[in-house]
Amino acid sequence: MNRAAMSHPALSRLAVEDDELLLGGRTLTALAEQVGQTPFYAYDRDAITRRVDAVRATIPREVSLHYAVKANPMPAVVDHCATLVDGFDVASLGEMRTALDTGMPAEEISIAGPGKRREELRAAVAAGVTVNVESPGELERLAEAGEAAGRRPRAAVRVNPDFELKSSGMKMSGGPKQFGIDAEEVPGVLGRLGELGLHFRGLHIFSGSQNLSVASLVEAQNATFDLAYRLAEDAPAPLEMLNIGGGFGIPYFPGEEPLDIAACGENLERRVEECRDRLGAVEVMLELGRYLVGEAGVYACRVLDRKVSRGHTFLVTDGGLHHHLAASGNFGQVIRKNYPVVTPRRVHDGPRETVSVVGPLCTPLDLLADRVEMGRAEEGDLVAVLQSGAYGYSASPHRFLGHPPPEEVLV
Ligand SMILES: *Cc1c(COP(=O)(O)O)cnc(C)c1O
Repeated sequence: MNRAAMSHPALSRLAVEDDELLLGGRTLTALAEQVGQTPFYAYDRDAITRRVDAVRATIPREVSLHYAVKANPMPAVVDHCATLVDGFDVASLGEMRTALDTGMPAEEISIAGPGKRREELRAAVAAGVTVNVESPGELERLAEAGEAAGRRPRAAVRVNPDFELKSSGMKMSGGPKQFGIDAEEVPGVLGRLGELGLHFRGLHIFSGSQNLSVASLVEAQNATFDLAYRLAEDAPAPLEMLNIGGGFGIPYFPGEEPLDIAACGENLERRVEECRDRLGAVEVMLELGRYLVGEAGVYACRVLDRKVSRGHTFLVTDGGLHHHLAASGNFGQVIRKNYPVVTPRRVHDGPRETVSVVGPLCTPLDLLADRVEMGRAEEGDLVAVLQSGAYGYSASPHRFLGHPPPEEVLV
């Protein structure tokens, strides 16, 4: 029995009609017919729009909102986001192409990531995309790319802060890290950036991800602005932009509660005003990935077999770890926990049972849900994994064991 899963905040917010799960106004069953296969990911366009509106309503008007494409790089999703956000942050040449394809101006796109290849740097320079420089060596390579192209690269410095974002699902700052340039090394790098004559855009300070604690986020925001003021003293030119990262998390597991973004917004209000006094007309940007798209998506698979092993019921489905690594618990989780899972034609009512949902792979890791209570599902029924709009399709090893890949639709 897993009553905690029943009270997952995602369940109370689902669109349900006659106890059937709806996505984009259609039942998941009808959607499966339309997609023409299972498994598939489906993302709800309106849910993304509503989420962006909710963020906009709480952050100061002058703060720009960027979408971190790696959370969900499906071109249709990125296209839709292009109509909603002010810019994109990409983490590879492939994502950069997707971002540029939307028509988003290159000036509103930045590329980050350790280990940018020379061809990625050249492509970013050619496009006019801002490169978040992550090492002294990369700064030199970027300057060379600019020289070869006869263009002045747009460069921001990605900082590895001297603080960490506490209680984060994924820590990406503080201590030794492969991301960004250690805060204490940044003044030297800023000096060199000026010598090389690059177009200095500003600073990128990203301290972590998947955070549900307002106190930790506020503390990190404050530390981020303070660090930016210190580093700005050594900048070769006034900052045009300050990317303060994001880190807004969504509830995945039993007992987690949605983030109170209003409280984050109030803190930002104060800090942005102060920032204008300290740094002038700098564009402060918030960079969010999963918070914008994660709750807008479901992963649907079909029950191939019901089987009882020593008193325990398994639903064996056509989907699994190879399509949804995160739900299987193998994408950065230390202790495996269940994503919320429902039987789309019996969301809240009807007979319930406690089952484990597994996939077709010959490995015990292929477990989508471990001993959860859900509506009874027969062979042929759908099973839906909620909170699957981010780090699902593109973050999974589709080739593992050679089963067919999932489909993706935006509805
Ligand atoms: C991964 C990443 C993000 C997005 O993180 P979410 O948790 O999806 O919001 C944003 N910025 C950078 C630099 C990242 O590496």
